[in-house]
Amino acid sequence: MVTQTPASEQLPVAAPAAVRRAARELLSTERLGLGLVLGIQGAATVAGLVGPLVLGYLVDHLSAHRSSAAQVGAAMAVFLAALLLQSWLTRSARRRAAALGQGVLARLREGLISGVLTLPLAVVERAGTGDLLTRATNDVELLTTAVEQAVPDMAIATVSALLTMVAMVVVAPPLALILVPAIPPLYLVNRWYLRRATAVYLARQAALARVNSRIQESTSAGSTIEALGLGAWRVERTEDDIRRSLAADWEALRMRLVLFPTSEAVYVIPLFAALLVGGLLHAQGVVTLGQVTTTALYAQQLVNPVDLVLQWLASLQIGAASLARILGVREVPQPDLTGAEPRTAELEARRVHFEYRPDREVLRGVDLAPPRGRRLAVIGPSGAGKSTLALLLAGVFTPTSGTVEVGGVEASRMPPERLRREVALVTQEQHVFAATLRDNLLIGDAAASDDRLWATLGEVDADRWARRLPHGLDSQLGSGEAALDPAQSQQVALARLLLADPHTLILDEATSLLDPGAARHLERSLAAVLEGRTVVAVAHRLETARQADLVAVVEDGRITELGSHRQLLRSGGTYASLWRAWADSS
Ligand code: ATP
Repeated sequence: MVTQTPASEQLPVAAPAAVRRAARELLSTERLGLGLVLGIQGAATVAGLVGPLVLGYLVDHLSAHRSSAAQVGAAMAVFLAALLLQSWLTRSARRRAAALGQGVLARLREGLISGVLTLPLAVVERAGTGDLLTRATNDVELLTTAVEQAVPDMAIATVSALLTMVAMVVVAPPLALILVPAIPPLYLVNRWYLRRATAVYLARQAALARVNSRIQESTSAGSTIEALGLGAWRVERTEDDIRRSLAADWEALRMRLVLFPTSEAVYVIPLFAALLVGGLLHAQGVVTLGQVTTTALYAQQLVNPVDLVLQWLASLQIGAASLARILGVREVPQPDLTGAEPRTAELEARRVHFEYRPDREVLRGVDLAPPRGRRLAVIGPSGAGKSTLALLLAGVFTPTSGTVEVGGVEASRMPPERLRREVALVTQEQHVFAATLRDNLLIGDAAASDDRLWATLGEVDADRWARRLPHGLDSQLGSGEAALDPAQSQQVALARLLLADPHTLILDEATSLLDPGAARHLERSLAAVLEGRTVVAVAHRLETARQADLVAVVEDGRITELGSHRQLLRSGGTYASLWRAWADSS
């Protein structure tokens, strides 16, 4: 099956109100921990305020020649003790904050994974895996920075900045006014930046998602691209995407290039003002030299927390943009699932129409009721809609109009794990999970005993190689572990199917990717699985059609012929001419 994924259809992005609500909910569960972090940081800041006070005291007393060596020694000891206490408390606050961030992140990641796992397959097909991948990697990474560093740092820095400002007011009220001139430029440049940041970062992530989508598509459809000679065209399109992504990156950088230098320049204002205004006020006897020293040091101490807050504001916005994309995954409308139980083991499609894109119908009024326990082969020219029909019969897609029902229950509205016990789709892409052979098989039936697993492996002809695995059912399969060849992977998948025991199987050219030897070998395994079940097989080889009980010919989205091999030969339609052409050539 060659599935084209429309590249433009991305997954939803949560609205700002939903992001705020989610952030509040996440933080509210950690209220106690956050309170403790802020308390410890408050204490650290108070300890940090002692140093400049001591220095101010020393300046006043030394300039008035009122200090003894013992007093200076004591003052230095207090200074050092306060410094040590401050670094110990800061370290403790940061450790707690990081642990807090990890907890929040873990919950976010779990939320994302459960959202991804419940995504309707049709949505993943349409959106492409690149967007999902970007959300699960880049967005989680950006959010990790925001949660692990930005939130705690900002909380800590805000407490420090506020306490330092209070201290400035307490030490020398008139001198505290030196902060005022720095506020308007800082406010203006940050407002300018923050108003643009979310849109720019969202655009950057979307551009990156497009690059990932394109690369992922090119990788998975590598052989098709090579066969059709589309390499240069794909490279060109990928380069276009990369150019767009770079332009978005550059826009983000351009904004930072305005924000950071402006902020740096503004930070000098309070220190400069403290010395200038302090000097003037001291000359008039309004403040002491010690007060000027302490205030100047506090002004300098303020730079760090204010800078942190402003820097992290942007990062927090990026985090919010990423959070919006992560939460968006959970906003994908879920199919309205039903708990209804199928009354019979009949699968039936009635007046089914389907379109991937508006106004381009791929199926146009298909009626099909595969006879129970029999094999139905679906044949037809490439692009006729065979694979799409298979996906609809397997409940992966919902018809645009019409119904596909299993025992009277709409297939696409049945919970996937329930539906798979009725109807299962077997495609050529079978996945072996990085887990033990046992876990790979238990996906079919979680309650199966080891004896049953071995018997099932025997049925699909897989027990001989499975017994040679180093730890039998406990052998690890998948990346870096026991590597299975494509035929063995198919056998594991077929064994899973046998364990799940659905009454109907939808086969989409299950053996066509394998080399002929492996395919022949697998046919035996497949025969065991097909035995006694209703089978709908999308067939490329007419030999498969000849062996089937019934053949449906699909042309341009419609079933144009339906009957047994003999009936269709007699009727002299498309199937008959296809068969004659095939028979003449072989
Ligand atoms: P083949 O034998 O080549 O696999 P098919 O008969 O199985 O062909 P489908 O794969 O069902 O045909 O495709 C039917 C039509 O739907 C084709 O025009 C195809 O381009 C289009 N199509 C398939 N998948 C998608 C998709 N995900 N998005 C948009 N169009 C699609």
